[in-house]
Amino acid sequence: MTVKTLDILVQRSTNPRIETLDQNNLQFGKVFSDHMFVADYKDGQWDNLKIMPYGSLEFDPANSMMHYGQSIFEGLKAFRAEDGRVLVFRPDMNAKRLNTSAERMCMAQLPEEIFLEGLQALLEIDKDWIPTTPGSSMYIRPFMFATDNFLGVRPSETYRFMIIASPSGSYYSKPVNVKIETTYSRAAMGGTGSAKAAGNYAAALYPAKLAQEEGFDQLIWTDAKEHKYIEEAGTMNVMFVIGDQLITSPLTSTILPGVTRDSVLTLAKSWGVDVVERAISVDEVIEAATKGTLKEAFGVGTAATIAHINSIGLEDDKYVLPAIESRELSNRIYNYMEDLKRGRIEDSFGWNMSI
Ligand SMILES: *Cc1c(COP(=O)(O)O)cnc(C)c1O
Repeated sequence: MTVKTLDILVQRSTNPRIETLDQNNLQFGKVFSDHMFVADYKDGQWDNLKIMPYGSLEFDPANSMMHYGQSIFEGLKAFRAEDGRVLVFRPDMNAKRLNTSAERMCMAQLPEEIFLEGLQALLEIDKDWIPTTPGSSMYIRPFMFATDNFLGVRPSETYRFMIIASPSGSYYSKPVNVKIETTYSRAAMGGTGSAKAAGNYAAALYPAKLAQEEGFDQLIWTDAKEHKYIEEAGTMNVMFVIGDQLITSPLTSTILPGVTRDSVLTLAKSWGVDVVERAISVDEVIEAATKGTLKEAFGVGTAATIAHINSIGLEDDKYVLPAIESRELSNRIYNYMEDLKRGRIEDSFGWNMSI
């Protein structure tokens, strides 16, 4: 992973802001490092690969991304290990998933080496921006959008791919109170739910706002047809421990294939846990919660790794789940994943890319 094969032009910032980095007051996604990676697609190929100073972009008012929404993104993290190494968690998975999303949104494919070497070049030049305070990390946001200036409805013929990086503080996710959504939908079969498409997020904001007004932190989406089966949380996949089984929805066209989801399932299987990917109904979850066999419920995603679900709301009822400290599996997974990502234990799965 350290061999450089691509020609990436480096334009260093003449006005570095690194001195302004306040490691003790980092929020999520507000501060960005000095540089960004950019590549442009036209005439069927990617060109102009460069690292340049972080800054504004200029758009033509007819830019088709703004009108018809061809825009996709990724999210991953880099960590500073105690021995000084920079570790990135499974970036190859994000490079692949970007292309799956691109295919669904009728956008250009990006060679994985552009993703990975662009990422590497950006982290090398901005390595001092990777925070070192306990629990902190560098959040990395690769994204691609249409750049044709044309109002006709057709796939853009030109695209831009970029990577920006944001030092983020300790992301301790408070246990969340979720609402099972039975009116609105995030994704329907055959739609774009399995693509990390910008528009999916826009469509989820209104129902999420309504839920927040009712006092919930997040939604659990259900199938668009009958609102009978659990899907995911919209920024996280969702898992349940019922009895001794770890259960999660299978990957369908309505579920985003999370890297964390894959990692957690792989890890749990390696520990001998009974892991099941199958459709899981709302009724089953509620029945298990009522009977006391629902031992754990949690969201899995890059931002939090594990977000414990404290309570589940369904229509006018609320089901409170067992105390967080009693949750053996999700706590064990969380500790293991954090240790692995930060290079404190052996990387037995070969998941870390070291820079
Ligand atoms: C990104 C995302 C997830 C989590 O994926 P990770 O790769 O684990 O971060 C889950 N659901 C949706 C809808 C997402 O966009």
